[in-house]
Amino acid sequence: MNDFDCDLFVIGAGSGGVRAARVAARLGAKVTIAENHRFGGTCVIRGCVPKKLMVYASHFRDDFEDAVGFGWSSASPSFSWPSLIETKNREISRLSDLYRRLLSDAGVTCVEGSARVVAPQRVEVDGRRFTCRHILIATGGWPFKPDIPGAEHALTSNEVFELPEQPRRILIVGGGYIAVEFAGIFHGLGSEVTLSYRGDRILRGFDQDVRTHLANEMRKKGISIALNSDLEAIHKRTDGRLDLQASGIAGADRPYDAVMFATGRVPNTGGLGLESVGVKLDKQGGVVVDAFSTTNIASIHAVGDVTNRIALTPVAIREGQALATTLFGGTPTSPDHDCVPSAVFSQPPIGTVGLTEEDALARHGEIDIYTTRFRPMRHTLSGRDERTLMKLIVDTASDKVAGAHMVGPDAAEIIQGIAIALKMGATKADFDATVGIHPTAAEEFVTLRDPVRKRRSAH
Ligand code: NDP
Repeated sequence: MNDFDCDLFVIGAGSGGVRAARVAARLGAKVTIAENHRFGGTCVIRGCVPKKLMVYASHFRDDFEDAVGFGWSSASPSFSWPSLIETKNREISRLSDLYRRLLSDAGVTCVEGSARVVAPQRVEVDGRRFTCRHILIATGGWPFKPDIPGAEHALTSNEVFELPEQPRRILIVGGGYIAVEFAGIFHGLGSEVTLSYRGDRILRGFDQDVRTHLANEMRKKGISIALNSDLEAIHKRTDGRLDLQASGIAGADRPYDAVMFATGRVPNTGGLGLESVGVKLDKQGGVVVDAFSTTNIASIHAVGDVTNRIALTPVAIREGQALATTLFGGTPTSPDHDCVPSAVFSQPPIGTVGLTEEDALARHGEIDIYTTRFRPMRHTLSGRDERTLMKLIVDTASDKVAGAHMVGPDAAEIIQGIAIALKMGATKADFDATVGIHPTAAEEFVTLRDPVRKRRSAH
C-alpha cells in the first residue's frame, strides 16, 4: 500500500472531490488533491452559492414593493451592482479558504495546478509526477456554447458572476435551470430581460403543469419569453453593445448590453489524458462509470458532473462519500440516484421530487392527480398577482405518492421535507393523516382531498 506516493489522488476540488478526499483521509488513506482554479468548484465559486446570494439580492425588489401593502411607506431604494459583486466575492473567498482549510485539517495534501493522468496509476501536475493507488476524476462540467458567429461575445455562467457592470438589456439563451434562474435575477435587479428558448415550453423534463405555471409567472413579472426562437449571430458594435441576428425574438433589432448562453454544460474531461490511458468516455465526453463510480480501469474512478449522471451538488457529494467508503471503508457502497429532489431558484422557485405526471402514467398506468393553485397569503395584502401551484401524483394501485411538485415561495424548503416522505414510500393516506401547520402554504400538501383528474394509460 505504501509503495505509492498516495492511496488516492483526486483531480478537482469541487463538491464531489472534496468530500471523497476528506472521507478517504478520515478512513486512514494518504490523499492528495489537485485544483487548477479555486478550491470549492463550480457550486461554491460560480454556481449554487453565488447564484443563491444573487437571487436574494434580486428578490428585494418585490419585497420593497410588497411592503407598501403592509403599511410601510414607499421608499425608493437604489441598487449597486459593484457593491453586490464585492460582498458576494468576499463570501465566496471565505468559503473557498474554508474548503482548503477543511482539507488540510483532514490531512489531505493540496496541490495547485492542472493534473493529467499519464498511466492507470500515475498523475502529473505541471511536471511533478505522483504514483497513486487510486485516481479520482472529479473535474465537474463546463458551460456549452452553441457554435454561432460571434459566440465569443456571449457570457456563460462562468463570467456572469464577475461582470463589472450590470447589463441594462440582456438576452438569455436556453430554457433550463440556469436560464430561468438568471432571467429572474437580472429582472429583479432591474435589467430588461428576454429569455430565448428553441422549444415551445421552457424546462424540458419538468412536469408540464410546472413548466406552464412558471412561464406564466415569469411573464407576469415582465420577463419576455421568446419560444421557438433562434439566435443566429452576435455582432459586437464599436460602442461595445451587441447587435443580434435572430428569429422569433421581439425587440432583437435593438442592441443588447449582454447575451448569456445557458445552453447546458458538458463534462470537463479535456486535457486530462483519459483517452490515452484507455478510460471509456461517452458521446459528450463524460466518464463512463459503474454503480460504484469506477471506470473500465480498476484504479480510476469518477464522481460528480464529469460522469454525466445527475448534475447536482448533493448527488456529487453522495457519490464522493460512497466511493471513499468503498475504497477505504471496507464496505462497497453504491450511491442512490433514486427519488432525488431538486429545486430551481427561479422567481417564484420550483421544488420537485419523484415523477412527472407523464412519467408516472408511463410507469404506473393508473394515476390520480391532485393540484391546487392559490394566491399566497402574503399577497392578499401586498396585492401582487402571483399564484402558487402544488401538485401530487398518486399511483392508484398502491396509493403511493409518485411525485410532488411546487411552484411558489419556499418551494425548495417545503419539498425537502416532502422528499423524505416520498423516499420512505408514503401513501396519499399518509399525507391525509398528517395534520397541517396553519397558516402555511405547505399545509396544502396534506389537505388535497379530491383528484382533479384520474388518468389511465391506453395499455
Ligand atoms: P439545462 O440542461 O438545464 O438546460 C439547457 C438549455 O439549453 C435547455 O433549455 C436546452 O434546450 C438549451 N439548449 C441546449 N443546446 C442548445 C443549443 N445548441 N441552442 C439553443 N438552446 C440549447 O442546462 P443548464 O445550463 O441550465 O444547467 C446545467 C445543469 O446544471 C442542470 O441540468 C442542472 O443539473 C445543474 N444546475 C442545477 C441547478 C439547481 O439545482 N438549482 C442550478 C443550475 C444548474 P432543450 O430543452 O431543447 O434541450
